Amino acid sequence: MNGSEQTPLFDRLALIGAGLIGSSLARAVRRDHLAGHIAVAARSQATLDTMSDLGLADSTTLDAAEAAQDADLVILCTPLGAYENVAKIIASALKPGAIVSDVGSCKKIMFSDVAPHLPDGVHMVPGHPVAGTEQSGPQAGFAELFEGRWCVLTPGPEAEESAVDKVTEMWRRFGMDVEIMDAGHHDQVLALTSHLPHLIAYTIVGTATDLEDDLKKEVFKYSASGFRDFTRIAASDPVMWRDIFLKNSDAVLDVLGRFTEDLTSLQRAIRRGEADKLEEHFKRTRAIRRGVIDAKQE
Ligand code: NAP
Repeated sequence: MNGSEQTPLFDRLALIGAGLIGSSLARAVRRDHLAGHIAVAARSQATLDTMSDLGLADSTTLDAAEAAQDADLVILCTPLGAYENVAKIIASALKPGAIVSDVGSCKKIMFSDVAPHLPDGVHMVPGHPVAGTEQSGPQAGFAELFEGRWCVLTPGPEAEESAVDKVTEMWRRFGMDVEIMDAGHHDQVLALTSHLPHLIAYTIVGTATDLEDDLKKEVFKYSASGFRDFTRIAASDPVMWRDIFLKNSDAVLDVLGRFTEDLTSLQRAIRRGEADKLEEHFKRTRAIRRGVIDAKQE
């Protein structure tokens, strides 16, 4: 670690929400001494107590505005459905020059639900660390979650460069590669790489749950043949995923339409016994798996 990497980037950091991602952030900020003071707001006293017990908060409050007061950087770490309300609550507490960022899985929402409530002189730098697990809550977090992963930032054209640089620097210090992208483009890409796979997992596991009892037993018994991986994905937080599908509905419906067409085409190939077509398709997808491993995003 060189000298500049030990200098705190922010005097006061406010985390609004402290679940898997918020608490992982707090752990990484503590480890790398990036903030003089970590103020944490959550919905429940239990979460705040856990953050204090873990030594991850210098101050805690149920009032997001109190946490945001005097903060240099405020990061929304709540489910997307809470964004608009949180933005309204913190707006009057934000100091001029403060940066407002987030970790949400959809990015256009920062422009629709948050930006309209922010006062002039506050810089908005939306962010999405593309890293996570199916766990939630403050105990589930760990500082290494972000290492070797991508973080996408989607600042608007009016965003001040110095604010974008500071947020970029924070994620880089956690071992992330940072990419700047248009918010709408982010939402389209993630609809395909993350949101659609989750929807498929939720569907398959739901289908299995609806099976007759004797068949259901066999599904669990032989789950190592593929089903098990879907159950892990389908165990992801219900509120977080409800909000992702509601807030990124256009892009999800678009990729879902394409997916349904492709599925129908494979269905037809199976019905017609088109061996070459099936094999060709599976060869192509196997090569994509190699690309994922090569990109170290396994
Ligand atoms: P989580 O573990 O369920 O934690 C959510 C936190 O938000 C909790 O601390 C909760 O407080 C708090 N909260 C909820 N509503 C609130 C409100 N109105 N005001 C203040 N705090 C509120 O969720 P997470 O997995 O960390 O996800 C958080 C965000 O990260 C989401 O927007 C998600 O899209 C994004 N993200 C998640 C992943 C992932 O894999 N999980 C990956 C990348 C990005 P209480 O505990 O007190 O209820």
